[in-house]
Amino acid sequence: MKVKTRSTTRKLVRKKDTRLVPRKRFCRFCVDNVKTIDYKDIKRLENFITERGKILTSRISGNCAKHQRRITEAIKKARFVSLIPYKK
Ligand SMILES: [Zn+2]
Repeated sequence: MKVKTRSTTRKLVRKKDTRLVPRKRFCRFCVDNVKTIDYKDIKRLENFITERGKILTSRISGNCAKHQRRITEAIKKARFVSLIPYKK
């Protein structure tokens, strides 16, 4: 039996020649060179919460550790000033 490693649990993309290649994940804030994330920018933050109001993990969203921290902080601030609900 094959042991599941981290690389096999990643999303795999089938290329034209039917080989399975891991999908390249990237942090979209690093790509856009975003330094600070505004807690009032709800439209952007809503991409990183589930429909029940939970914060997405970086494993799913693909954020780097630095930007995941910034997002988590921004979401918590936005919740505190009730721009975003704690739960739905
Ligand atoms: Zn980043």
